Amino acid sequence: MAKKWNMIVDVARCDNCRNCFLATKDEHIGNEFPGYSAPQPERGHSWVDIKRRERGSWPAVEAHFMPVMCNHCDDAPCMKAAKDGAITKRADGIVLIDPVKSKGQKEIVDACPYGAIYWNEDEQVPQAWFFDAHLLDKGWDKTRIEQCCPTNAFRSVKVEDREMQRISEEEGLQVRKPELGTKPRVHYKNMHLMTHCFVAGSVVVDADGVEECAPDAEVVLEQDGRELARTTSDTFGDFRFDKLAKNSGQYRVQIKSDASGSASASFELGGECLYIGAISLAN
Ligand code: SF4
Ligand code: SF4
Repeated sequence: MAKKWNMIVDVARCDNCRNCFLATKDEHIGNEFPGYSAPQPERGHSWVDIKRRERGSWPAVEAHFMPVMCNHCDDAPCMKAAKDGAITKRADGIVLIDPVKSKGQKEIVDACPYGAIYWNEDEQVPQAWFFDAHLLDKGWDKTRIEQCCPTNAFRSVKVEDREMQRISEEEGLQVRKPELGTKPRVHYKNMHLMTHCFVAGSVVVDADGVEECAPDAEVVLEQDGRELARTTSDTFGDFRFDKLAKNSGQYRVQIKSDASGSASASFELGGECLYIGAISLAN
C-alpha cells in the first residue's frame, strides 16, 4: 500500500504567532510554480488561516487557536465540481488544483465545504494550500508551515493509511466536519479546545471568618447520578473538567475533603464554558 501525506495539527500548541500564515504568503506571493500554482495575490487570500476561540469567563478564561487549510480530502467535493481534470489527487494523497486547467472555473471555490479555496481575480484561477508539493517533490521532508512553527504545532507524516489510522486512534485525532464523509488528511489533536466546554470552580473553606483555598479536595462530576470524571482541587482550591459537549444539560459536582468536610453544587451547561464559583466545604 502506498505511503501518503497527512498533516497532524496540535491545537494546544498553537499560540497564534501567525508564522505559518506569513510563510505561506512569503512562499507564494509573486512566485509562480508551474504545474503547481500561479502566484498568490498580495491581498485577500488565507491559504493557511488561524481560527480563534475564547473559552470561559473570569477567573477561568483562556484563548485557543486552530490553523486551518485545505484538508487534502480523499473524497473531495472540489474534485467532483472541477471540469477537465482541473483537480487531481496524487498517489501521495495531495490534492492539486491545476493552475492552467482550472482557469475560469470559479464554481470550484464554492464546492469546498471548508472554505479552503480562494479565487484569484488576477489569474482567474481557484487556489488553495497544496501541501507544499513543489518543495516535497524537490526532496524537502517537511512543509514550510511546519518548518517555521516555533511551537511544533504541525507534524507531517507520510505513512500508509492503516498506519495513519493507528496514529489517529492512539493520539485521539479528529478531522473537521467528519459528518460530510470527505475523509480529510489534516488531523487535529486537542480539537476539543475549539469544540467542547469545560466547567471550573473553586473549593474554599471558612477559617475563622476568612475564606481560604481548599487544596487536595476530591471533586466528582456526575450526570443523572452517574460518575463521569473525578479530579482533585489544586493548590489554589481550583478544579476543572474538560471535553464536555455544549448544551449537554444538568450536572452535579460532589466535593469531599478529609480535613474540611463536603459540599455539592448543580449546574446546567449551555453553549459556553462555565465557572461555577467558589463552593464552601462544611462538616
Ligand atoms: S506558526 Fe505555529 S504557533 Fe504560529 S500560528 Fe502557525 S501553528 Fe500557530
Ligand atoms: S478541503 Fe476543500 S479544497 Fe481541500 S480537498 Fe477538501 S474539498 Fe477540496
